[in-house]
Amino acid sequence: TKVEDMVQEVFDAYKTNHHAPPHLAPTYAAVSALCIIGTEEAFDVIDRKKLLEYLHSLKQPDGSFLMHAGGEVDVRSAYCAAAVASLTNILTSTLFAGTAEWIVRCQNWEGGIGGVPGMEAHGGYTFCGLAALVILKQEHLLNLQSLLRWVTGRQMRFEGGFQGRCNKLVDGCYSFWQAGLLPLLHRALHARGDSALSMSHWMFDQSALQEYILLCCQCPAGGLLDKPGKGVSRDFYHTCYCLSGLAIAQHFGSGEIHNEVVLGGPENCLV
Ligand SMILES: [Zn+2]
Repeated sequence: TKVEDMVQEVFDAYKTNHHAPPHLAPTYAAVSALCIIGTEEAFDVIDRKKLLEYLHSLKQPDGSFLMHAGGEVDVRSAYCAAAVASLTNILTSTLFAGTAEWIVRCQNWEGGIGGVPGMEAHGGYTFCGLAALVILKQEHLLNLQSLLRWVTGRQMRFEGGFQGRCNKLVDGCYSFWQAGLLPLLHRALHARGDSALSMSHWMFDQSALQEYILLCCQCPAGGLLDKPGKGVSRDFYHTCYCLSGLAIAQHFGSGEIHNEVVLGGPENCLV
């Protein structure tokens, strides 16, 4: 079957590339893919004991993580480590001692989060930082109000899509990295008992983002892109994150408080 082929592919890649040094980004991608496949055979591919040892080997005294042995430190690695540890149930307080405090140091005067303390706020790093803190249940340590102010200012008033940083151009992939922050912020502020929160909409213009994705980011030949005029640049990365952003823009909440906002006809709704 299709699923068995996928498991075999991941497993073959693992076997044939075992001489290549491991790295946290593909570790995150592989563990996520195996969890999406979700069969016992898929879970059995993961050696959780070795994975925990590997994560410990990348941990730095200040709470941060290296992306790979001898590699760089930035907030992506904290997120990748927290995500895979959480998915495989090996998340320990020792492994993440000081990590939340280190991520909080990456939030700068703009309100967003940079790659390392002192760096410019950026959509991808901000998502990784907040999402890691949500996994570690420490998101209250951030200045959530200034984070909210920064991210809402990144939705562009003419284009409707998001930019990654101040004064940069719109880009379809930030439909996920930036808009994906709003559900996490909504949840964190709701936990604080913020009574001003909407119970039907996220705190960004959901229709404007759908306009940008549906009208500007679809490549006529298939796939989704950064922005119009970049037809040759359609790729799996932008297709994944444009679609992920579209899902956020169309769906608020879950269960009884689920609210759909679909631009145009019902055929525009992601199934
Ligand atoms: Zn992009």
